[in-house]
Amino acid sequence: MRSRQRMFAAVMRLLLKCLRLGRRRRFKLVRQVEQLWHYGHLCLHSLLYNSFTNGDVVLDSLFEPIYWLVDHVTRWFGVVFVALVIGLTSSIVAIVYICLLPLILQTYTPAWICWHLAYGHWNLIMIVFHYYMAITTSPGYPPQAKDDLTGVSICRKCIAPKPARTHHCSICNRCVLKMDHHCQAAWLNNCVGHYNHRYFFSFCLFMTMGCIYCSISGWEMFRDAYTAIETYYQTPPPTFSFRQRAFHKSVVYLWVLCSSVALALGALTLWHAALITRGETSIERHINKKERQRLQKKGKVFRNPYSYGGWDNWKVFLGVDVPRHWLTRVLLPSPHLPHGTGLSWDLPPCVAEQRAPLLAI
Ligand SMILES: [Zn+2]
Ligand SMILES: [Zn+2]
Repeated sequence: MRSRQRMFAAVMRLLLKCLRLGRRRRFKLVRQVEQLWHYGHLCLHSLLYNSFTNGDVVLDSLFEPIYWLVDHVTRWFGVVFVALVIGLTSSIVAIVYICLLPLILQTYTPAWICWHLAYGHWNLIMIVFHYYMAITTSPGYPPQAKDDLTGVSICRKCIAPKPARTHHCSICNRCVLKMDHHCQAAWLNNCVGHYNHRYFFSFCLFMTMGCIYCSISGWEMFRDAYTAIETYYQTPPPTFSFRQRAFHKSVVYLWVLCSSVALALGALTLWHAALITRGETSIERHINKKERQRLQKKGKVFRNPYSYGGWDNWKVFLGVDVPRHWLTRVLLPSPHLPHGTGLSWDLPPCVAEQRAPLLAI
């Protein structure tokens, strides 16, 4: 009995010892966690502390992941859209060659056949050439060496001089000479600037012309094909072969796609044509509009320093120095460079020559 009591007392003593030890360890652990928490808190504060922090900085920081996502994901959107443009255009060309051309050759008069062959191929060559040049030509960037140019302002992102008409592209993450816009979601996956602005506009123009041409010349065929498709669901159904059904559907697809693109791209082309007539880029339109309103309030009139008059603006934009250039540089594929370097904006030679007599008077 005594031995049992002694054993019980020994176990109790051991248990109490353990509890005392556990409490000590627990306190130590809590102290360590507290220290770690204070250290982490201090680290975070020292990393985030900025005497210039304000609401804008906090908002910018919160939006940083979204900017990153837009920058990185939309790059791939651009590639997908380029593939889509090439795929859709190729499908239209294939339908014209496989379905429409044999019909044209069989049923049209020789004069109409010559017209369709000549115009269709010329238009196609112009589209392919200008699209290829627009996506592969660099828009032009200011030189990296900072002594090379006399910038009119400083780019806050590049921390480098920014020549006149140059703007920073947030997608390319660099300054672009005579930047018009970054054409990503729609056609080019490239920035449109000084060196490829003409290619971009010409592509839009010839693509619109091609779509209008297909829509007008394919109207009769579309009407017949659409009427035929409507009869598919009659009872008893008409006896069209697989080839005839494929022809009907292809013609309807061609006409619907071409007329939709003609409308949408036609509107965009007209918009850019109006900007070129005024000697402005898409970005300058907003800047000039603000400036015009600001000066109007002061009773002054704003004058765009890069506009030489509607007709001359077109000649400068297209690079037409002499009359034969309308044929060689506008109506035929031409890889000629635009006037100037995009760093300074002197009067182009074709405009200067015309203005010389006026200046002499
Ligand atoms: Zn920049
Ligand atoms: Zn860009």
